[in-house]
Amino acid sequence: MEYSKVTPEDLKALASIVGAPNISSEDYDLVTNAIDAFAGEPALPEAVIWPESSLKVLEILKYASKRRIPVYVRGGGTGLTGASVPVHGGIVMNMMKMGRIIEVRPLDMQVDVEAGVIYDQLNKELEPHGLFFPPDPASGKSCTIGGMIANNASGLKAVKYGATRDYVLALRAVFPIGLDLRLGSKVFKYSIGYDLARMLVGSEGTLGVITEATLKLRPLPKNRKTIAAYFDSIEAAIKCIGRIRLSGIEPGAIEFLDRTHLRLVAEWSGLSLPDRECMIILELHSYSKVGLEEEASDAINLLKEGGAVELVAPENEAEAERIWEARRGTYPSMLKACRSPIVGDIIVPLSKLLDAVKKAYQLAEKYQVRVGVMGHLGDGNIHTNWLTDRRNRDEWERALKANAELTRYAIEIGGALSAEHGVGLEKKEFMPEQHKEVLELMRRLKEFFDPNDILNPGIML
Ligand SMILES: Cc1cc2nc3c(=O)[nH]c(=O)nc-3n(C[C@H](O)[C@H](O)[C@H](O)COP(=O)(O)OP(=O)(O)OC[C@H]3O[C@@H](n4cnc5c(N)ncnc54)[C@H](O)[C@@H]3O)c2cc1C
Repeated sequence: MEYSKVTPEDLKALASIVGAPNISSEDYDLVTNAIDAFAGEPALPEAVIWPESSLKVLEILKYASKRRIPVYVRGGGTGLTGASVPVHGGIVMNMMKMGRIIEVRPLDMQVDVEAGVIYDQLNKELEPHGLFFPPDPASGKSCTIGGMIANNASGLKAVKYGATRDYVLALRAVFPIGLDLRLGSKVFKYSIGYDLARMLVGSEGTLGVITEATLKLRPLPKNRKTIAAYFDSIEAAIKCIGRIRLSGIEPGAIEFLDRTHLRLVAEWSGLSLPDRECMIILELHSYSKVGLEEEASDAINLLKEGGAVELVAPENEAEAERIWEARRGTYPSMLKACRSPIVGDIIVPLSKLLDAVKKAYQLAEKYQVRVGVMGHLGDGNIHTNWLTDRRNRDEWERALKANAELTRYAIEIGGALSAEHGVGLEKKEFMPEQHKEVLELMRRLKEFFDPNDILNPGIML
């Protein structure tokens, strides 16, 4: 598809829609909107635009459609797959100026927000109401609600509470065919035809721009208990995760770090962590103290019987926080160790977890790249982190090959190429293997809402 370049006349016309302070073609703005957190190639846009309302978004899309100028939607820019990188140039539509929490409705257990609201900021606002929006991506300090919906983001707490998809009740979205629509309904369940609101969940900005969302909320659990268990065998640890899931105990988080990550985090943070093969961290949540103590005791017994060689179950928050500090330190500690890690994000059925983890280590051997395995193993989501520096092109290529082979393996054994980070540029080559004939249907859906292919072209599909 041939696209038009952004001309001075276009800049003038767009400035008349959003106001001169909300559009820029200065190098600084182009460069800071040219890449996300994926260590791929940057691509410069020709202009950056910050809309302040749905109506402005509609006007911009109508203009860009008529002129055939690509528009790339950007939230916090924390994506790990290059899904907002303007590979065809054009305009980056940066949603950060639509950051209003419109209304918290505690009795309805719902909140209405604009798409540019930051995840952590929303939960801070909800805390006095005793409510929270649970998906909890590790990028919560910077990622936006719009980006989370577009990626169906999740994180530490998905094993108990689910992903962003499970909380989207209604959306306002603007489509390049010139529609500004309210989709879904502000009630907990509905049976009113096609679920077009959730069609946008995971759409990675390819169908429409999400401008507002109504999210379901949960009461904040009053009591928490963290348990860290160290193992000398990955097999034993993974079997233990299976037993915990089957026992009916429903931890708010079940996280896993292998020895590579334990060492990297210890080096980066100065925390003294046991040098064991791997670690499982559980966080139990409860609304009653008694229930929590009973669950903790059952979980500790299961971990001991399953082969845990060291157990830490802190009585106070500060000590528990140190354990979570280690978990949160995995990403920065990798950046320190290798500069540009490739973060894998496969998900497999629980029964295949051990096979997939073993496969990751085999591929590390085959391609001679270091890998660290960690993630939300409680729901089958494995982050295989290929520790590479993209300046070493040979190593970088080998890491990409290892990641590709593992991704294909995950699809083959009934899993998926991504659990939460999405497809973007990084993984779109695997979409035909993941979806087969359904991919064509996705393309047709895109054609319907975006016939000139101006919204996030080149991303995901
Ligand atoms: C350190 C780190 C940790 C991370 N941990 C997690 C994690 O635990 N779980 C997880 O799921 N992800 C994680 N991520 C990935 C990323 O943070 C999430 O995918 C997040 O949801 C992206 O939000 P964003 O606002 O930064 O979106 P961006 O990166 O700006 O965009 C992501 C995609 O959403 C689209 N988009 C953004 N806003 C809109 C909108 N309003 N309408 C339509 N499309 C839109 C973009 O076009 C793009 O396709 C992590 C990233 C980093 C760097």
